[in-house]
Amino acid sequence: MTADEKTSLARLLFTAGDYLRDGFHLPGEEYSFSDDEAFYPDEPVISAAVPVSADSLETVAAEIRECTGCPLHGERKNAVPGEGVARPLVLVIGEGPGADEDASGRPFVGKAGQLLDKMLASVGLSREKNCFIANMVKCRPPNNRDPLPEETAPCSRFLTRQIGLLNPKVILCLGRISAQTLLKTGASLGSLRGSFVSYHAGDTPQGAMTIPLLPTYHPSAILRDESYKRPVWEDLKLLRQMLIEKDPDYALEAGEGEA
Ligand code: SF4
Repeated sequence: MTADEKTSLARLLFTAGDYLRDGFHLPGEEYSFSDDEAFYPDEPVISAAVPVSADSLETVAAEIRECTGCPLHGERKNAVPGEGVARPLVLVIGEGPGADEDASGRPFVGKAGQLLDKMLASVGLSREKNCFIANMVKCRPPNNRDPLPEETAPCSRFLTRQIGLLNPKVILCLGRISAQTLLKTGASLGSLRGSFVSYHAGDTPQGAMTIPLLPTYHPSAILRDESYKRPVWEDLKLLRQMLIEKDPDYALEAGEGEA
């Protein structure tokens, strides 16, 4: 097969895959193939095209690192797809990477990230053991400003695919922008936090999902104002109680399950 034939086939497959998965296609992907030099019947032939159905967290992360879908790609050092375990109890969704995250390509590694790790550890959770940590937008908004709707909208296709692949038991949503964007509301975070809501992630490639979602304050809010500590701790206790009800192993570790 020639390089041009492979490029046409790859474009067709990825375009079809995008429409089937997301309902739209963002052009801009560049493909680089070379002509087959020869065909030897005894040697294994490896297809250059990735099957459309073979979506994975690694595929999503690779696409995020190449993405130019909004202006935020222009100044990033590193995109930050997210990290954690592949089958998490909790998917933590923040707003966007900061300077430390942009420099390292990892989510929540600065001061707010260290506080988040402590918050999670206080209820038996960690990104190494039972959480996945991601953001609404995967590239750093300049000067740590809030992500704009024209940035969260094109980026949401990545988060939707991550939610479908991760299938978490619970989503912990950090900060006003994340809560308002995911729940499609203009309500204040103060009125949204303090109870679970049903999040309908109906358009994931894996089909309709309804996941309990708990909004709470972002750890950076606590760093600015300690009075947020108490409501966040109340929310973490709610999270713990929900996980006890949903996961027998977690309940056992929390000392609330049947031995
Ligand atoms: Fe692409 Fe999201 Fe980065 Fe924008 S923020 S360039 S949509 S990955």
